[in-house]
Amino acid sequence: MSTPNDNNTTAAVARMPHLGYELGSLAPHLSHEAMDYHYNKHLKAYVDQTNRLVQGTRFEGHTLEEIVKEAEGPLFNNAAQAWNHTFFFDTLSPTPKKAPTDRLKALIDHYFGSVGQFLTDFNKTAMALFGSGWVWLAQDSHDRLMLLSTHNAQTPLREELNPLLVVDVWEHAYYIDYRNRRADYLNSVWELIDWAIVEKRLR
Ligand code: MN
Repeated sequence: MSTPNDNNTTAAVARMPHLGYELGSLAPHLSHEAMDYHYNKHLKAYVDQTNRLVQGTRFEGHTLEEIVKEAEGPLFNNAAQAWNHTFFFDTLSPTPKKAPTDRLKALIDHYFGSVGQFLTDFNKTAMALFGSGWVWLAQDSHDRLMLLSTHNAQTPLREELNPLLVVDVWEHAYYIDYRNRRADYLNSVWELIDWAIVEKRLR
């Protein structure tokens, strides 16, 4: 099996993100084994497949975001999974800011009632998502905040929304640590979400 390191070629449109933490540093909430599989196997495959599939298409030399917004089929699926995972992993920290403040807190209070109610609503949306997908907090062009779930690789970028926060609810995100207990995984992920990063994404 050939394993070209597409990451180091100038033609690469997708790259493995540099994480601001060690893979083992999110334990016990997410184990080193779970993060190693998620980052080095799942995300790596999406990144490599994106770089392979883009060859010979009109998307060569485009940004990953442009591909996510415009491509279809397997190229879209892999590019969007690369983008979604990067966005998810970038939000996690072993030493997160544990709650939103200032403008984001005010917007969450306005649209969800309170931060506690937002967390309840988010978890409910995540529990209700049938099959594989992602749950998002996003901002629209009128500064409204909304919760949405997307199936498989789908992403709010396609709907001209500004994503602020995402949680991966594909089974591969939690099966190593939590087996089928999605609710336990969600509770643990909230211990890792860095609200300082979420706040920086507000427009
Ligand atoms: Mn995943």
